[in-house]
Amino acid sequence: MTTAWQETLDAGDILLIDGGMGTELQRRGVPMNEVVWSGAAVATNPDAVRETHEDYIRAGAKVIITNTFGSTRQMLEPAGYGDQVEAVHRGAVKLAKEARDNMGDPSVAVAGSISTEPPRFDRDAFLAPQKELAAYREAAGLLAEAGVDLIALEMINDTDHAPRAVQAALETGLPVWLGVGCKQREDGKIVSFDHPDLEFAAILDALIPMGPTVINIMHSEVGAIPEAIALLRERWSGPIGVYPESGYFTKPHWNFVDIIPPRDLVTEALGWVAAGARLLGGCCGTGPEHIKAFHDAMPDLERARSTS
Ligand SMILES: [Zn+2]
Repeated sequence: MTTAWQETLDAGDILLIDGGMGTELQRRGVPMNEVVWSGAAVATNPDAVRETHEDYIRAGAKVIITNTFGSTRQMLEPAGYGDQVEAVHRGAVKLAKEARDNMGDPSVAVAGSISTEPPRFDRDAFLAPQKELAAYREAAGLLAEAGVDLIALEMINDTDHAPRAVQAALETGLPVWLGVGCKQREDGKIVSFDHPDLEFAAILDALIPMGPTVINIMHSEVGAIPEAIALLRERWSGPIGVYPESGYFTKPHWNFVDIIPPRDLVTEALGWVAAGARLLGGCCGTGPEHIKAFHDAMPDLERARSTS
């Protein structure tokens, strides 16, 4: 198990994580599944998954996130992959570790992704609470057994389903990164990416007491991030990360429209770091070129850090 990521954060230094995985697989020609998006790509296109991890490490990422965002039982079963939940989780960790070995950098951490996305991305189709909790426990347990360094909870955008995922992740004993997606409502309020009536602050207030190690503002619009960081800092003294999206989703495909140029992302990130962010990466629509831009700009980012 590598703890280099934790040492970087303990020192107050900047930690680079990877960029989008599902959208990057799409960009590389991997077919997106109508029901489960990229959740079965480990089974269908393992080489593309490994190569994408390698490209992120090459670009400078020190944490890579497994391609298991859409791979809980509640997501894979309706897509006809219910018998492959175990194989997909074990395979995803294996591919990430192979990429780390191939790139010769044992300090790279492997984060196991789990989301609370519902079956078919349909919010009316959630499993009954105990079955839902069991699905998160299954995913977290498989990732832990396969040897991830931490659990990255992603798109934890409510206060109903989220606590079950957080509970399941914490039960592994591994560090838990909480990834919350937000956006700015027309009246200026920062709200859940999925629920315009739910304030970002309410999600934080519900989940921070459970004990995450890191909180990431993820898959969020670049314009909403400064205010989101401010809301987070009012509530949280632990490490803050940012990995935004760029473009938009029309199931099951990402639209690579007006993708933020890597140089512009770095300019935005200088402000985020000055405001207290320490983990930087990208979500949907971003690729290795964005992570490389962060890496190349590290002297500037370190200077911005010293002002906060
Ligand atoms: Zn995303």
